Amino acid sequence: MAELDVAELASDLIRIDTTNRGGGDCRERPAAEYVAERLGEVGIEVRLLESAPGRTNAVARIAGSDPDRPGLLVHGHLDVVPADPAGWSVHPFSGEIRDGVLWGRGAVDMKNMVAMTLSVVRSWAQAGHRPRRDIVLAFTADEEDTGRYGAGYLADGHPDLFEGCTEGISESGGYTFHVDGRRLYPIGAAERGTAWLTLTARGTAGHGSKPNRDNAVAALADAVHRIAGYQWPVRLTPTVRAALTRMGEALGVEVDTDRPDLDVDAVLEQLGPARRLVESTVRNSANPTMLSAGYKVNVIPGEATGQVDGRVLPGTEEEFEKTITELVGPRVDWQYYHREVPLSAPVDSPTFASMSAALRAEDPDAHVVPYCMGGGTDAKQFSRLGILGYGFAPLKLPPEFDYGALFHGVDERVPVSALEFGVRVLDRFLTDVA
Ligand SMILES: [Zn+2]
Repeated sequence: MAELDVAELASDLIRIDTTNRGGGDCRERPAAEYVAERLGEVGIEVRLLESAPGRTNAVARIAGSDPDRPGLLVHGHLDVVPADPAGWSVHPFSGEIRDGVLWGRGAVDMKNMVAMTLSVVRSWAQAGHRPRRDIVLAFTADEEDTGRYGAGYLADGHPDLFEGCTEGISESGGYTFHVDGRRLYPIGAAERGTAWLTLTARGTAGHGSKPNRDNAVAALADAVHRIAGYQWPVRLTPTVRAALTRMGEALGVEVDTDRPDLDVDAVLEQLGPARRLVESTVRNSANPTMLSAGYKVNVIPGEATGQVDGRVLPGTEEEFEKTITELVGPRVDWQYYHREVPLSAPVDSPTFASMSAALRAEDPDAHVVPYCMGGGTDAKQFSRLGILGYGFAPLKLPPEFDYGALFHGVDERVPVSALEFGVRVLDRFLTDVA
């Protein structure tokens, strides 16, 4: 059997083009087969589960040494967002390794984590090592669209595969975030919910030259204007409170989230670049993104519609709905076009402590902080099985790497040394987690 290091595994995966164009247009099957082959050759049996032709998921279970402990889910998506080669320095599906850096779509989101996971469990299998907890590996389709063909399909159609799992880890956490010479490692412990809305205004259709006080376009525009101008109130969830406190400690900024007169915007200012980790999660948000009405300039249409991208913090769903109803007003109706739950996992859990310890073991100067993700991941789908989700795909990045900009960005890339660090951290965590 060929020895493959993590960079080769990640490069191979990047070369398998799994672009997800949305609406069902993607083919993950070759990537799922690749994963099954790499695990199969070390004796780990993989089930391939196809939700539609080509939309393939790969799931395996590694039996732990202590059957009394709950299982741990490690999941990673196999699809990637589109990349136009025209804007790139190297071809986005070349998987080229140049000067110690691996380039390509999926290098950080998230074929890196898939490769790191494969690398750890392959080395375990070869050494005859077993973890304490059962570890379920799930490599999924369709995360970059709705998850319907991937994690959603697995959670709804094959819950038995995840029997006993209480917690899961996946993307968007455990990476280096540089602030003034300090290295923060944010671990995802919550996610805002998705609330995509359709607004519909109905009015009286008529000639564009005639007076019309019941114009659907104007009513929709008023509603959209009110939503866009609304300043959502600060709502500090337990995860965001913990994030602000621990970032403050790491950066020498005094943050007392219990103060009744706490000025969160002033605190964000003091956190400097670290504010980017929290600013989108101290409030709900609702951004108008699409408008549609009319077919001719001299005809007033009877209907106008708009769409709004809303994001909702855990525990604020009711308030969000009430506020939207007030903002759109009586002339406009609204409904959910797509909705996903917010998530929250404890930051004082033994599992969170194990992740922190694994990071500090490999980077003694790591300041590990929890954070709430502004958007969502497959963890939302697996939460339906009662699995708590953490964002933990460890990478040690040099200061010039802007991780946030590389996500879905042009010239997505990752240093090979970052992947090797990730393998060491994951190995420790998955071995030690109790
Ligand atoms: Zn992703």
